[in-house]
Amino acid sequence: MTSPTPTRQQHVIVLGAGPGGLTCAHELARTGYRVTVLDRENFLGGLSRTIVRDGFRFDLGGHRWFTKNPALDAWFRNLMKGRLVEVERTSRILFGGKWFDYPISVGNVLKTAGLVTSAACVLDYSLSYMKGLLRSAPPVTMEDAFTQQFGRRLYDMFFRRYSEKVWGRPCGEMSADWVSQRSKGLSVWTAVSNALLKPKEKAQSLIETFLYPRYGYADICERMRDDILSATGNRVMLECEVRNVDLSDELHPKVTWNGPNGLVTESADYVVSTIALPVLVRKIITPTPPAAVVESASSLEFRSVICVNLMIDMPQLAPDTWVYCHDEGLGFARFHEPKNWSPDMVPDASKTSVVLEYFCTEGDKWWNTSEADLVARSVRELAGLGLLDPARVIGGFAVKAREAYPVYNLGYSERLQAMKDWIGAIPRLAIVGRGGTFRYNNADHSIEMGLLTAQMIRGEVGKDDILRVNTSIEYCETNLVPAATRD
Ligand SMILES: Cc1cc2nc3c(=O)[nH]c(=O)nc-3n(C[C@H](O)[C@H](O)[C@H](O)COP(=O)(O)OP(=O)(O)OC[C@H]3O[C@@H](n4cnc5c(N)ncnc54)[C@H](O)[C@@H]3O)c2cc1C
Repeated sequence: MTSPTPTRQQHVIVLGAGPGGLTCAHELARTGYRVTVLDRENFLGGLSRTIVRDGFRFDLGGHRWFTKNPALDAWFRNLMKGRLVEVERTSRILFGGKWFDYPISVGNVLKTAGLVTSAACVLDYSLSYMKGLLRSAPPVTMEDAFTQQFGRRLYDMFFRRYSEKVWGRPCGEMSADWVSQRSKGLSVWTAVSNALLKPKEKAQSLIETFLYPRYGYADICERMRDDILSATGNRVMLECEVRNVDLSDELHPKVTWNGPNGLVTESADYVVSTIALPVLVRKIITPTPPAAVVESASSLEFRSVICVNLMIDMPQLAPDTWVYCHDEGLGFARFHEPKNWSPDMVPDASKTSVVLEYFCTEGDKWWNTSEADLVARSVRELAGLGLLDPARVIGGFAVKAREAYPVYNLGYSERLQAMKDWIGAIPRLAIVGRGGTFRYNNADHSIEMGLLTAQMIRGEVGKDDILRVNTSIEYCETNLVPAATRD
């Protein structure tokens, strides 16, 4: 398909200034469209934000850049030229008071867990492998998927507790989809073959280096914002909460937002939304969608996350990129030291910082714990692990993020499909992003969706192409990025 040249400058309103929304606006602005980006928060980046405090920089949990799509990777490197560092991934799992390498390696499990436990893991895995040969139906729950892929013992050691912390419910109540999306290509065999044969092609979950913006992940969104604003007429507006998308006139949707000067309504040629899909359907779109669609939206849930950020007067806690903490006695599920990702994340080399992730649901016990208690608990627990002297902590604060994790509970996919089918038929509205499409996207997936949405608006690809990003169907469009923006 060819791109029609707009006869008058088309105006696209993008809802949300996270990676997905900004990428779409960036790509449209590059090809002559007028764009308005609105975000309810007073910062850019959505879940990919970076907070700066007293010379320390904190992402909302460590964010690495990785994509399997070479064209997208080239687009990213071009955007971030001169602003990236390459980070070696050295992660560990803290389980039962013992430190295991992550990704799991055969030699390390043998050494750390001992011969008896390792033998039980192999036996268990062999049993589930043999059962798998007789089974024809795909797994239904997350528990089935993990046990079929790794055996019950390894599932219990390395997946169950962490997953239950993230999702706040037993793995038997979660859909198997998440496992197929996230640990595609990872199995006991890949761990063994990586240990023994070291093939060049590693599974998706076994990547050993990644790229990272040296001043924090939000730099990606800041770079795009600067490019967007370099053309007259474009706007990126913060503290503007979208209240209504009126679709009465199908060809000229109207957006109403509440900004610093009160309520404003504008019409657009196209609206692109990265607002959490259930919220968009239930609270924002008018005329009210069909009852079945609203009902589907009401049954979809999100998990939230609280990051406790500590500033510390010592050079380093641990050498890891991430530490996954499975033990139920610990409130947090994962932590990272931003300095291990980039030296520019701390004010000087004598200091470090740490970000601890508490997964929660809005209104639950973690959500309602005071900031002072969260900070005190985090310090106490790190000290209990022997990693921190509390006297060295020079400050701490907590950051909450709603709508952080779309929950793939049993039956979610049929309900989601009902909403997507309805939205798919609306001519001038597109949905993009993690909350926006209710898909467990990494930032690269949302960026890829943003680029494809711009191409869809230009008439180069279809709406369905956008929703194929980050599905189990391998999607790696080689002409995704226009030649002009490649290195
Ligand atoms: C703890 C954690 C760790 C992660 N680690 C990684 C990682 O290592 N690598 C990686 O690639 N990804 C990682 N991610 C995922 C990454 O953060 C997201 O995939 C990415 O930010 C999604 O971008 P998005 O634009 O789709 O959505 P978001 O970033 O969620 O942006 C949506 C935007 O919409 C705005 N919005 C919502 N409602 C309204 C409204 N009514 N009006 C106006 N604006 C509104 C929000 O404020 C937000 O800015 C991680 C996420 C978390 C939570």
